[in-house]
Amino acid sequence: MKIFADYHTHTKYSHGKGTIRENVESARKKGLKEIAICDHGPNHIGFGVKIENFKRMREEIDKLNEEYKDIKILLGVEANIISYNGEIDADDKIIDMLDILLVGFHFGARPKTIKDAYNFYIVNYTGKIISSVAEKARYMNTMAIIKAINNYNIDIITHPGAKVNIDTRELAKAAAKKGTALEINASHGYLNLEYIKIAMKENVKFAINSDAHTPDDVGNVKRGIERAIKAGLKANQIINVLDEKERG
Ligand SMILES: [Zn+2]
Ligand SMILES: [Zn+2]
Repeated sequence: MKIFADYHTHTKYSHGKGTIRENVESARKKGLKEIAICDHGPNHIGFGVKIENFKRMREEIDKLNEEYKDIKILLGVEANIISYNGEIDADDKIIDMLDILLVGFHFGARPKTIKDAYNFYIVNYTGKIISSVAEKARYMNTMAIIKAINNYNIDIITHPGAKVNIDTRELAKAAAKKGTALEINASHGYLNLEYIKIAMKENVKFAINSDAHTPDDVGNVKRGIERAIKAGLKANQIINVLDEKERG
């Protein structure tokens, strides 16, 4: 099993180490046909892409696409869920500039309201200690991410289960209906094997990404592929893996 695209890579525009060009060159060296630059959404404290930089990134990527004919370079964002109404920190102005939209939960992202902040930080952290609160947190997190899936055209949900507790089955059902893929992140342990097995029963699609923070790590998805194979996933269930037949 081999990926032809890495849809989750970071650059200096958030907290990655390399430039867009360096990520692209690394992807070409590894034989990838597509790469997405998906830095953190603007509400990520300290890391978020500044609004004015999206335009700059778009221009840089358009130029690189002219220069390199052997690889397709996509501009994306790893947006944050910022409210329990399922809002994300990418408005229409940003979304209109993008080729691909990734969304995930991150601690360190500024919630929309005080109430969202309370629910996100206090309820989730209290839930780590008190099990009845854990259930409430899990329910609310799940509802928020499902609302986001229904509110926006999200291509990939990044590392489900990594930061906050969510109901993988319900998430997978909603994602399958909307055509949103769930990420098997090679850097994080999520989706973990258990969650992949739950999600795959709902006929959802998956994406195996590196979440590279250095150019060298672009396309490094070995750990993700191992989990996909262990779970029994087939190539046609993964959006960035070609069927052996198709590859010829
Ligand atoms: Zn992330
Ligand atoms: Zn990331």
